[in-house]
Amino acid sequence: MLQQFYPQATHDYRYELNKDMHFAAAHFIPHPSAGVCERMHGHTYFVNVTIVGDELDEVGFLIDFKALKDAIHGVFDHSLMNDHPAFNGETFPTTEAVAAYIWKTIQTILDEKENRPKCAQVLVRETPTSYVVYRPKASDFDA
Ligand SMILES: [Zn+2]
Repeated sequence: MLQQFYPQATHDYRYELNKDMHFAAAHFIPHPSAGVCERMHGHTYFVNVTIVGDELDEVGFLIDFKALKDAIHGVFDHSLMNDHPAFNGETFPTTEAVAAYIWKTIQTILDEKENRPKCAQVLVRETPTSYVVYRPKASDFDA
């Protein structure tokens, strides 16, 4: 991938899995400070998620790659981000908010697994020159 670039998440786990995804979506930022982003427009979003853990599941996965794709690409591809429940209230679909939402969505899935993997990093690239990295605090994980 042309735009492939991965800042590293620091961790001490045995396994690290990375999943690249992309999806096409429209959004707008309904705030006067958003400039041209106040008008509806589209992006091809590139997403990389980093999953870490010490234990594998019964299949030998940290997490099935397809479960990650279904949870993100399956929800956002060819959608208007502002229509999504997470972004039709006070939270606008900025790159930062999208990254945080993707982290929460994925960590919720991981929390169901007995091998307890963790999402250590989410990278969301909105344009060839702009991306956001979201890294959770330790306190963001359930005990
Ligand atoms: Zn935009």
